Amino acid sequence: MSLKLTILGCHSAMPSASTHTTSQLLEIKNHSFLIDCGEGTQVQLRKYKVKFSKIKHIFISHLHGDHVFGLIGLISTFRLLNRETELHVYGPVGIKEFICVQLKLSKSFADYPIKFHELSSKESELIYEDKKVKVYTIPLKHRIYTNGFLFQEKIGERKLNMDEINKHPEIDICDYQNLKNGKDFVRSNHNILSNELLTHAPLKPLSYAYCSDTAFKPEITEIIKNSDLLYHESTFLDDREDLAKKTKHSTAKQAAQIAKLANVGKLILGHYSGRYENLNDFKKEASTIFSNTYLAKEGETFIIP
Ligand SMILES: [Zn+2]
Ligand SMILES: [Zn+2]
Repeated sequence: MSLKLTILGCHSAMPSASTHTTSQLLEIKNHSFLIDCGEGTQVQLRKYKVKFSKIKHIFISHLHGDHVFGLIGLISTFRLLNRETELHVYGPVGIKEFICVQLKLSKSFADYPIKFHELSSKESELIYEDKKVKVYTIPLKHRIYTNGFLFQEKIGERKLNMDEINKHPEIDICDYQNLKNGKDFVRSNHNILSNELLTHAPLKPLSYAYCSDTAFKPEITEIIKNSDLLYHESTFLDDREDLAKKTKHSTAKQAAQIAKLANVGKLILGHYSGRYENLNDFKKEASTIFSNTYLAKEGETFIIP
């Protein structure tokens, strides 16, 4: 199955009549990971017909409002929908208090389990792993403690080459799993049929790197190297590079430099400042450095491969 990213919101600072702050939904290996949760995210989820019950893991980059103000509303709605499934929230230290204080003061509660995974490391760390997927943090450089997230598929099983297998009736269905695991087949006469002959290589594992918000930080390219898809914030254009530096954000050009240095497959820009009317200028600017650049737009999906 491919990797699918849906943009729910991609603007910085505050929502407007037609724009929302940051949130994305990543569908990968049967997971629906919610990444950041700006104000109005639950309305966007409804708009783009995402099943609330599919969201079991929420990754919050940092505690600025444009990335987290939608979380309390979503958590509250989960309860109204009689959610029973455990919810995992990954975010900076303070995320638990941020939610619990609001629940307490509004005399509200969540009657389903919420597990907070509070992050404080300045190094990249593995924060989620199952049989098929791993998630690492990408330490970013912002005004407050911030992480991006790297979502990586694990290498899958080898695929059976049935044309070849069918030529050897002594290979039983019970042997298939061993073949998928990479083992050779030993015939009754002790001859060996190599695994390469009986199987095809697994599909290339896909990866998605999410980087918002951050000043230009080339060190992250080591972590996100060769990712298939990169979202990198581009709050400003090059004309306000000074402001980007001051507020610890990036320009479209800098996002493209990161994409180029990391040799990613595709770059998505977003987290646009409200001062710019023509978003195509972001793409134009970044494309001079990294041609495979796209603009995040609400409702847009990116599917890899
Ligand atoms: Zn932001
Ligand atoms: Zn921020």
